[in-house]
Amino acid sequence: MSSLRDLSHWRLLAAVALSPLAALYGLFLLARGVRRGARRLAGARHALATVLVCQNGHPNATTGRWECARCKATYLGWIGRCSVCGAGAGWTPCGICGAGIPFPWAGR
Ligand SMILES: [Zn+2]
Ligand SMILES: [Zn+2]
Repeated sequence: MSSLRDLSHWRLLAAVALSPLAALYGLFLLARGVRRGARRLAGARHALATVLVCQNGHPNATTGRWECARCKATYLGWIGRCSVCGAGAGWTPCGICGAGIPFPWAGR
């Protein structure tokens, strides 16, 4: 009978020893999920932004008339994706000083 009690004893010990690990793992999963969600939210917020600011602080509208770098078609509307071939744009030159502005939502 003592061996059975020992077994339950060890099981209890193992559960106590493993529970902080399990809690840590849970926290890790939670933190990763929150970080991923926050990143997605930030990307969505950037994509919804109507103005991109270049390194010199010039505002550039994200909607207008653009030329696709891949198919060379001119498309209207949101700058981030060509409405003709569907290619995603990665950057745009500032309309005022010409400095390249990388899109914050690109490359994710
Ligand atoms: Zn295109
Ligand atoms: Zn500029």
